[in-house]
Amino acid sequence: MVPTMKNATTSAAPYVDSYYSRSVKAPPSRPVLDADAECDICVIGGGMAGLATALGLAERGRDVVLLEANRVGWGASGRNGGFVSGGYSLGLEEIEARVGRADASALFQLTLDALELIKDRINRYEIDAGPMRPGIMKASWFANADGMKANTDVMNERFDLGLEFQSREQMRELYRTERYHEGVLNPTAFQFHSLNFTNGIADAAEAGGARIFEGSAVTHMDLTRDLKRIDTAKGSVSANQVVICCSGYIGHLHPKLSRATLPVGTYVVLTEPLGERLQDAIRTPYGTSDSRIANDYYRALPDTRLLWGGRVSSNLSPRDLEKKMIGDILRIYPQLEGIRAEVAWPGTMGYSVHKMPQIGRLSDGVWFNQGYGGHGMCATTAGGEVVAKAIAESDETYKLFAPFGLDFAGGPLGPLIAQCAYWGFQLQDLWSAWRSK
Ligand SMILES: Cc1cc2nc3c(=O)[nH]c(=O)nc-3n(C[C@H](O)[C@H](O)[C@H](O)COP(=O)(O)OP(=O)(O)OC[C@H]3O[C@@H](n4cnc5c(N)ncnc54)[C@H](O)[C@@H]3O)c2cc1C
Repeated sequence: MVPTMKNATTSAAPYVDSYYSRSVKAPPSRPVLDADAECDICVIGGGMAGLATALGLAERGRDVVLLEANRVGWGASGRNGGFVSGGYSLGLEEIEARVGRADASALFQLTLDALELIKDRINRYEIDAGPMRPGIMKASWFANADGMKANTDVMNERFDLGLEFQSREQMRELYRTERYHEGVLNPTAFQFHSLNFTNGIADAAEAGGARIFEGSAVTHMDLTRDLKRIDTAKGSVSANQVVICCSGYIGHLHPKLSRATLPVGTYVVLTEPLGERLQDAIRTPYGTSDSRIANDYYRALPDTRLLWGGRVSSNLSPRDLEKKMIGDILRIYPQLEGIRAEVAWPGTMGYSVHKMPQIGRLSDGVWFNQGYGGHGMCATTAGGEVVAKAIAESDETYKLFAPFGLDFAGGPLGPLIAQCAYWGFQLQDLWSAWRSK
């Protein structure tokens, strides 16, 4: 039976008030699932992990239904920093320590391929994800010029990244702060409008035949039979295969996946246009993140507003957020005293304990694709391709992620543990800064 179309606004939570929702290109209001549908593959979750999976499957001619509880890109994917670069939340060295050099390289390369695929899809599907600006700078908080230079050479040799080392003097030209030492510019990484991109990927998946339902939270699943049944408040989907991509918003949907997910709050502020004052502080269009574990990341928009992200907390909607975030900006750029926020917003990242995505198969026809943490705009496209190829082509690349399993993330104590870990990281950053003096 073909589900009837109904306006999505009935039960979908609206987008959080943010730079992205204020400037989103009127996304189509997608239907609520309010009948029984059948498909080959049902994807649950309309963030970039789910949408990249759905698009990858649609591109391979498969029959897909995607169910999103709220709106496409409502979660982390449509409210983040908009930085797109290769890699994962877990650093390459740590990945290598766990799986060895060859598999670590293969895992890292997946994200570099995904970066190119994102650019290709933006062109191919004519997605307006602007303003798009090339270049992301890693600004070193610690004095370690030789180490940084050597690491840049190693990464360039190994992955042909074209990274550019920046001396302290070069950094002083771009950033009017004493806080940074040297830097490394990644010229192929870029910044974009993540909500418009996410909606563009949804449009592309629909154009390829995928059916997307918003306001359609999955409330129950029977995954034990050959034909899986997925229930929402008003309808159901029968599917041969299911891919669960709910990340930090998974709640209690699936005991094993929910227990392996640590929902962690993090925040972004958008300032008013700074006009000429921007030049007093930041003289580059590059996105910038510093090298602390508990770091800040920011980018100037073409109209001189500053989009600034940082902080991690178990509190998913803290009070005085604008004030706290402006305070963070002033700690680096005190010369910007007096600037005001236009809007600040929280988002929830879904972390795994090991900080790598969790990608794999739970049982016949039951897949998961989640846990991208704070570094998912590129990696979700990699993960979507890996799962789509596994389902459509019996490709086994997904097995590279097997060492990063569904470890218990602490249950109700998880957010508190994450908060303590963040405070620990801040102390570690202070210690590293003191030692590097
Ligand atoms: C503030 C912030 C800044 C960030 N900055 C960056 C950045 O600059 N660069 C970068 O690479 N990464 C960044 N990240 C991380 C990145 O945004 C995430 O890793 C990525 O978006 C995760 O995508 P996802 O699809 O796994 O999760 P989400 O985008 O959170 O999507 C999960 C979706 O599942 C839906 N869902 C949940 N339960 C159900 C259910 N029962 N039924 C149906 N649907 C359901 C939710 O409504 C949600 O839409 C940031 C994250 C945050 C929060």
